[in-house]
Amino acid sequence: MSNLPDQLLAGYRNFMGGRYISESGRYRELAREGQTPETMVIACCDSRAAPEAIFDAGPGELFVVRNVANLVPPYAPDGEYHSTSAALEFAVQSLKVKHIVVMGHGRCGGIKAALAPDAEPLSPGDFIGKWMSLVAPAADAVSGNTMMTAGERQTALERISIRYSIANLRTFPCVKILESKERLSLHGAWFDISTGELWVMNRETGDFERPDLD
Ligand SMILES: [Zn+2]
Repeated sequence: MSNLPDQLLAGYRNFMGGRYISESGRYRELAREGQTPETMVIACCDSRAAPEAIFDAGPGELFVVRNVANLVPPYAPDGEYHSTSAALEFAVQSLKVKHIVVMGHGRCGGIKAALAPDAEPLSPGDFIGKWMSLVAPAADAVSGNTMMTAGERQTALERISIRYSIANLRTFPCVKILESKERLSLHGAWFDISTGELWVMNRETGDFERPDLD
């Protein structure tokens, strides 16, 4: 008897009867040859913003790391546990990805928490509070803007934090060097859950724009 929730087992049954059958050759090849994804995506844990679904990606196409609010911490070789930096190191140094996309999304709970730093922590460890302190200066600046509505502040910080994370990516020597050699490009994107719209960061201006899909 399995302990997995029925919904997961039913989903797995569908996967084996559908997608796995149509992609079994691809899975076998990936098992034999290893993975060679060209794109790393840094996305939020939020169940509504799955990169593989949004980019319609098959197995082996995207190397994904997800964390609360899709943040990249600055380079800090301090002997502590850095899961996102470990994923980044592997993607850049071993897989040699050509693109890194930091993808944020609307209604992000992590960003909401950053805008309410005095709220009661969810647990004594306050891991979210510590993690979201990565964007504290921006959160403070946005929180203090009374010209904006709460929704506007939320969207603003979601997008500003993407630029923050991209700046932090450049603090990793390997990223900075490869980007300067034009072997690696950094991108920002923001997904609106309710409409499905994807907004892409203009690399010159930092503004977010709707891409031309034609
Ligand atoms: Zn989120």
